[in-house]
Amino acid sequence: MAAEVIYGDQLALSLRQEMKEEVTALKEKGIVPKLVVVLIGDDPASKSYVSGKQKAADFIGINSELITLVDTTSEQALLDLIEQLNNDESVNGILVQLPLPDQINEQAIIEAISPEKDVDGFHPISIGRMLTQQDTFLPCTPFGILTMLQSKNIEIAGKHAVIVGRSNIVGKPVGQLLLNEHATVSYCHSRTKDLKAMTKQADILIAAVGREEMIDASFIKPGAVVIDVGVNRTEAGTLTGDVDFESAKAVASYITPVPKGVGPMTITMLMKNTIKAAKNHHTKK
Ligand code: NDP
Repeated sequence: MAAEVIYGDQLALSLRQEMKEEVTALKEKGIVPKLVVVLIGDDPASKSYVSGKQKAADFIGINSELITLVDTTSEQALLDLIEQLNNDESVNGILVQLPLPDQINEQAIIEAISPEKDVDGFHPISIGRMLTQQDTFLPCTPFGILTMLQSKNIEIAGKHAVIVGRSNIVGKPVGQLLLNEHATVSYCHSRTKDLKAMTKQADILIAAVGREEMIDASFIKPGAVVIDVGVNRTEAGTLTGDVDFESAKAVASYITPVPKGVGPMTITMLMKNTIKAAKNHHTKK
């Protein structure tokens, strides 16, 4: 039997509708969530991600501001801007769109953002809190994946989750979130000796590599849940994932598509984090 497709776009829409109602109620109490997105340079992919974030914010009623800087911006100028935004009481969430130009140290920027406004969940304090299972801003893509699994009541406890990819923004944190949910977690990466032998053991397989359709049915245990994080642009200009969707769908129990899978959920969780930041700020006042 073919796998059930988990459509992230549909789930994202229903969550955004709920958030819209929540934001309307918050505004009645005088709380107006505000997100500032900083975009440096004019990389087309970054521009497209930023525009998706702004559209989602507009739909929900989150006040979003885009600050665009030229790609020759110095690290100090960006640090100064972040400090200003950290001190601005009206700003709840700060997102600096990655990647950054070579002259700017990415980690220095991530660490400059106040953890209270770190809606991307990349600050070491947010990561440490996630690791130790404290309340925090969860990184958006892993948070979106967890929400997709939970939306289908997919059992995580006791399952073997195999993560292909170990980046700081996707692979590592998604494994950690699944570990927090009591999965047994294995990480694979470019030095893994026999990738297929690992992925074939997965009850939950997360592909976060960035290689067009590298995971086909032969990597998948029958009945596994397959989450495709990859976003790859094909020669024809279309988007495709890390998973060969058609062959994988024939063996998996659940599968996410690309596009309309994890991508819309990532943006949605950013909105959720922004609302959380606004509520946290209000409670502290
Ligand atoms: P990175 O390039 O930072 O990480 C890729 C990972 O894949 C690395 O850990 C690398 O291993 C591993 N890898 C590379 N080649 C192989 C291989 N042949 N076998 C096994 N592992 C391999 O990418 P990201 O984590 O940032 O992103 C991964 C994908 O997800 C990309 O396509 C990206 O566009 C997409 N993405 C999608 C998002 C969404 O919202 N849908 C959000 C963020 C990313 P090593 O560490 O050894 O180099």
